[in-house]
Amino acid sequence: MREVNLKYRLCAIRISCAFRTISDDAVLVIAGQVPLGELARESKDIRTTLSLIQEDPRAKAEDGGPTSIEAWVNRKQGQVDYYLTQELSGHGCFRSYLKQYGHETEDGCPECGSGIAEDAQHVLFECHRFNHEGQVLEEITGTEVQPETHVPLMIGNQRTWEAATAFAVSVLRTLRLLERERRGAAV
Ligand SMILES: [Zn+2]
Repeated sequence: MREVNLKYRLCAIRISCAFRTISDDAVLVIAGQVPLGELARESKDIRTTLSLIQEDPRAKAEDGGPTSIEAWVNRKQGQVDYYLTQELSGHGCFRSYLKQYGHETEDGCPECGSGIAEDAQHVLFECHRFNHEGQVLEEITGTEVQPETHVPLMIGNQRTWEAATAFAVSVLRTLRLLERERRGAAV
C-alpha cells in the first residue's frame, strides 16, 4: 500500500474532521486530496469504508464519464464536516464501529435486534429508525434514499448537497447522543 506522508494525512483528517482510525485512502478521498493517478490499487479498506462513493476505485465509469471518486473529488460545491465524514467512512458513532475499537460491548441495532449490526449502511439506508429524516431528504431531492445513488445525488447541486448533509447531521447527532446516554448509564 502506498505510504502516505504523515503531514498529508493529518491535513486530510483536519479538513474532513475524521476519526483518527480512518484509513489513509479513505480520508484522502473524503477530503478531496487524493492524487487520482495514485489511488491505492490493493487496499481493501477503501472499498469497504468508501462503499458509498464507489465499490471499487479501479472501476472505470461505464459511460466513459468520470468515476464516482473523480466526480466526488472534482465536485463544484460542498464542504465535508464531522458528521458527513462519519457517514461516508463508517468511522463514527455506529455501534459496530465502536465495538470494533473497544468502546461498546454490543454491535446490534437497538431497534432491529442483536443479529443486525448497527453500521453506516444499516442506519442510513435500512433501519426504520430514521425513516422520517429519510423522507425529508427524499421530498427535497425527489429521489429514493439508496446507497448507490446517495453520493451522486449529493454532488448534484448545492440544494441536494445541503439536504444530504442535513440528513447525515440529524442521524449522526442522534447516534452520538444515544452513545453518550449509554456511557452515562454504564458509569
Ligand atoms: Zn435498525
